[in-house]
Amino acid sequence: MTTITDVLRAKRLLAPYLPETPMWSYPVLDAVAGAEVCVKHENAQPTGAFKVRGGIVLLSRMTDRERGVVTASTGNHAQSLAYGARIFGAACTVVMPENPNPGKVAAVEALGARVVIAGESMVEAFEHARGLAEEHGFRLVSPGDEPDLLAGVGTLYLEILTRRPDLDAIFVPVGSGTGAAGASVVARALAPRCKVIAVQSAQAPAAHDSWQLGELVHRPMKTRIDGLATGSAFAIPQEVMRAGLDDFLLLDDDVIDQARRLMLTHAHTLAEGAGAAALAGVLARREEYAGKKVAVVCTGGNASPRELGM
Ligand SMILES: *Cc1c(COP(=O)(O)O)cnc(C)c1O
Repeated sequence: MTTITDVLRAKRLLAPYLPETPMWSYPVLDAVAGAEVCVKHENAQPTGAFKVRGGIVLLSRMTDRERGVVTASTGNHAQSLAYGARIFGAACTVVMPENPNPGKVAAVEALGARVVIAGESMVEAFEHARGLAEEHGFRLVSPGDEPDLLAGVGTLYLEILTRRPDLDAIFVPVGSGTGAAGASVVARALAPRCKVIAVQSAQAPAAHDSWQLGELVHRPMKTRIDGLATGSAFAIPQEVMRAGLDDFLLLDDDVIDQARRLMLTHAHTLAEGAGAAALAGVLARREEYAGKKVAVVCTGGNASPRELGM
């Protein structure tokens, strides 16, 4: 099980590659939320999302990098792995399901990775990635069940709680659960009275339902919000979340979209849907957090054409 020691080591590994991201609060946003809201700007990462922390840590700790890596992803996980592979000179292959967003293909290819299009769903794309791993000897990287990804993304919570140990709560959006698991590890070690509250789309509740039931379940995946779109839960982050998470909210895509617009108008921040889900969580719990100090992680800014209004 990942511990604070793993996260502290990940922080040292990342230091030469990624500066600390900014965290600001915006009085006009605070007024709407009725709380002090610290926005952690992971949208300012070089790939536009927090996951790059995990990709760099995984590649830096890989002792047989000459094998190359392969994964399946439509978005930010792909860019994270491709970014890490580029730093360490490893070959990277990303399998995307059919009809991918051309902008996402271009972003991954621009980082020097190879994109293979196969399968109708993420599950099928991942099975294809498994086949490529067997055929070419690549290391198969799961988007969720990788302790190095969890420790890597955990470093962002180290940055938050080192600067603001007085926070009452941190709101974290969940897809696979690595981010919320990392937050749980860090908060339990450094700020035991700071609550960690996970947020997922009600249109894709696999991680929420698995956490609540205490077993891994599959759920329909109907959300239009990319970073939150997972149909099944991952064992490693679930185990960590079970021990460290205080609460888990399900919110409708429409409510998350409203929070995304609020990020734009009240925090001059372009968030993708998943990057605004944490703020949506605070607004959904307005009474409970009135007058309190909370952090929301703007996990990414890679907005889709729909989210950009184009
Ligand atoms: C992947 C992702 C999430 C969800 O993070 P997990 O660690 O998979 O739970 C949230 N926001 C963005 C922007 C993402 O790319």
